[in-house]
Parts: sequence; structure tokens; C-alpha cells
Amino acid sequence: MDTLFISDLHLDNRRPQVINYFTEYLKNLTSDISALYILGDFVEYWVGDDDPAIGLNELFEQIKNESKKYDIYFMHGNRDFMMSENFCHRLGMKLLPDPSVISLNGKDILLTHGDTLCTDDHEYQNFRRLVRSKLWQDEVLKKPLEQRIKLAKDLRKQSLRETESKKEIIMDVNNLAVEKTFLKYNVNTMIHGHTHRPNIHTSSFKDKEFKRIVLGDWFSSSFILRYRNDKILIDKESFI
Ligand code: MN
Repeated sequence: MDTLFISDLHLDNRRPQVINYFTEYLKNLTSDISALYILGDFVEYWVGDDDPAIGLNELFEQIKNESKKYDIYFMHGNRDFMMSENFCHRLGMKLLPDPSVISLNGKDILLTHGDTLCTDDHEYQNFRRLVRSKLWQDEVLKKPLEQRIKLAKDLRKQSLRETESKKEIIMDVNNLAVEKTFLKYNVNTMIHGHTHRPNIHTSSFKDKEFKRIVLGDWFSSSFILRYRNDKILIDKESFI
């Protein structure tokens, strides 16, 4: 039985090859799958459950069908945090809080999107606190759909501009935040996305070994982490 982990697909009708690849991947899964975990930024943006989801509706239908075969879990990222629990249920996905600890082959693993670990980016953390508040979300959801789409596009542009000007290190995880998370949740393995820097980092402190697995984005190739018993496999294929 395999357990799959993905994040940062940033599904968008402007990049149909990513949508097609994911669709085909799900169709062609031959091994037994026990669960699929989607750790945020599944879609490029989500403005509320009346989002037209252009180019995504067929895939959503497929997810619903797949969820009858194995469990599909979804955790919010910084792009799709407005997807409601209700909407997830309609797609057959179970919404997981960030972070969540799961047990896999008798081992506890912490799952997070990863943005909360980037504590050096104070500007982003302030922004995150604002947009994750119920007050802000309630206000935004009162706006007409067109206005919300414009807001999402503006925020995306702004984030692109800021990403260019910020130092690389500021946008990566803060090591102390990572250590604190390991200790707080009493785990020695975590899986996250968000930074778009796929890697497996091992470290040791307090006489223990810790492993942080970072998932890759789906911009130029796919990235699926597959746990088969205790073995880690990575399915990666270029779109170009
Ligand atoms: Mn992200």
C-alpha cells in the first residue's frame, strides 16, 4: 500500500499541461493507494466556493470518484485557504488542520503546508494573520465575485513582486521554527511544501535524528512523494 503526498500544484487553466498530467497520473495509478495527502496550494487561487474554477471542474469530478477508492486529505495553503470545509466534502476530500500529525506504518509524521515555518518573513506572517482571520474572510466573502477575483489577482501580482525583492533566505524556513515544531509535536519526521525547494533534510539535536521532507512544486515537472512501507519514492516527470 502506498501513501501519496503532493503540494503546490498551483492548478490554473493557464497551465493545462499540469491539470492533464495530474488527471492522467490518477487514472493510471496501478499500485494500491491507502491515502492521498494534498498539502496546500492545490489551486492557484480560490476566491470562495462560488469560484468558477475554470478548467478544473472535470478534475474535481475525478477527485470525487477517486475518493471512493482511497482517502483524500486536503490542507490549506496560502493560495487556497478560502476553500471551505463544505466544498472539500463535496469533492470527497477531508480537510486537515495545519499542522496535523498522522501515523504512518506506526510512525508519527507531522504534515504542514510550510508557510508558518518561514518566520523570518515578518511581512508575510503579518499578512497571513490578517487573511486567516474570520473577520477578514467574512468581509471579503461579502464582496461580489468579480471583485474577489480581481483581489486574488492583485494579491498574486503583489506577492510576485515581493518575492523578487526579498532575499532567498528570508523566504525559506527558519531552522529554529523547524526545531521548535519537531519538539512541540514530539515527532522526528515532517513533510511540507510551500518553499518550492524539494529536498530531504536530516539534522540531529538533543541526541535525536530528525527528517524534514520538502515537496516540490508542479511548475516544470510533477512531484509526488510516495511512502511505500518505510521507503520513500519520488515520482517526478518533466512537463516540457
Ligand atoms: Mn504556499
